[in-house]
Amino acid sequence: MSAIHRALKTHFGFDQFRSQQQEDAVNAVIKGDRDVFVLMPTGAGKSLCYQLPALVASGITLVISPLIALIQDQVEHLKALNVPARSINSKLPPAERRQILADLESESPRLKLLYITPEMVASPSFQPCLSSLCARGLLAYLAVDEAHCVSQWGHDFRPDYLKLGDLRSRLQGVPCVALTATAPKRVQQDIERSLKLRSPLVFATPVFRKNLKYDVIFRDLLPDPYVHLLAFAKEALGGNTAEKGCGIVYCRTRESCEEVAHKLTKLGIPAKPYHAGLKVGDRTDSQTDWMTDKVPVIVATISFGMGVDKANVRFVVHWNLAKSLASYYQESGRAGRDGLPSSCRIYYSPKDRDQLNFLIRKEIGRKQEKRGSEKEQDKAPLMDFEAMVAFCEQEGCRHATISQFFGNPKPNCAGACDFCRDPKLVRAQLARAAALSTR
Ligand code: ADP
Ligand code: MG
Repeated sequence: MSAIHRALKTHFGFDQFRSQQQEDAVNAVIKGDRDVFVLMPTGAGKSLCYQLPALVASGITLVISPLIALIQDQVEHLKALNVPARSINSKLPPAERRQILADLESESPRLKLLYITPEMVASPSFQPCLSSLCARGLLAYLAVDEAHCVSQWGHDFRPDYLKLGDLRSRLQGVPCVALTATAPKRVQQDIERSLKLRSPLVFATPVFRKNLKYDVIFRDLLPDPYVHLLAFAKEALGGNTAEKGCGIVYCRTRESCEEVAHKLTKLGIPAKPYHAGLKVGDRTDSQTDWMTDKVPVIVATISFGMGVDKANVRFVVHWNLAKSLASYYQESGRAGRDGLPSSCRIYYSPKDRDQLNFLIRKEIGRKQEKRGSEKEQDKAPLMDFEAMVAFCEQEGCRHATISQFFGNPKPNCAGACDFCRDPKLVRAQLARAAALSTR
């Protein structure tokens, strides 16, 4: 067993790395000669990519994280593992704060991981400590978690994250590890620039998942969309015999959740709605019945799915368009977690597109009015939405569109999307849709 595997076992109790990317990232961080950029989905185990190196390095790793609640979770978790981790934040009792600072000022501090918010790292009260650590060469790494917060193009921009560029400049020679979930290319570029990452080594979970089959159906061209949906669901669920499969249909409104669930059930596939308008008990019942395979299909608004990790989801349908290509990738990605063939379909309608477009523009307008000025980055939601629309309306490989949006190279689709399977059919559908819209 290598030293690093031993450390993984002793400190965290894990027998192996979660993925090759996790192992490679850990090794690259330990090597310490380059900055490292980690792009992996939520739950993939990004924290370990700096926590394990922090424990085997001499010195202290400074971890930036956006929220005190997130920090407290992590620190509690690490304390339970007997890892010397603490956080300095505005909620800390003064006595504890003094104790931590005393340790940091001692000749050989015990602390391995110091968690801190970006505003705290920039606050005057922390500067003497930071300068002293830096001057004594006691900083092993700078880890910036949730690094997308630095990007004004991201969905979670925090102005204080911009101060991290200055911090970076002060910590000459300290390697930086930036971590975020799979992010659009635009956001990745912002992160690299703002955190002054010098040609970082990138460790990313590949965006392309070859077991997912993507297609787009223009809903308005169908004589009966529900019958069409039924046939699709039947085929997706019927394919595998041993395992019971299930599916998710996403709708934008509560009414369409009810409607679609009702129709599917009537046509022969039991389906239950899930949305914020249901009584809590009914909503929980829907989820439980679906989770336990009592009801194969759940028809839900996007509030459903956060933290739901079910392996045997054979299909994800979007009855209405998602608000961005990034959200679509995440939502449709709930299919096929077990690696078996699964289908992701959008029932596209230009009417949906126009409605969403209107809502997004209204939201942007409201934001600008509140602020009293306009910013280039206000357009971000609209650009993300336009990427979603292009995915549906363009002639091209669907997998390639997604991969390129996230800055990955073009994958080998090999017939895993409708365009690569039969481009003529996709073209014919687009032509019929165009004819319909000009009538
Ligand atoms: P992320 O930040 O990527 O969303 P976390 O770092 O919070 O993910 O890790 C998610 C979960 O995975 C945690 O419960 C963590 O303990 C667990 N985990 C991380 N690495 C491994 C591993 N090598 N083996 C098993 N579990 C792991
Ligand atoms: Mg995380």
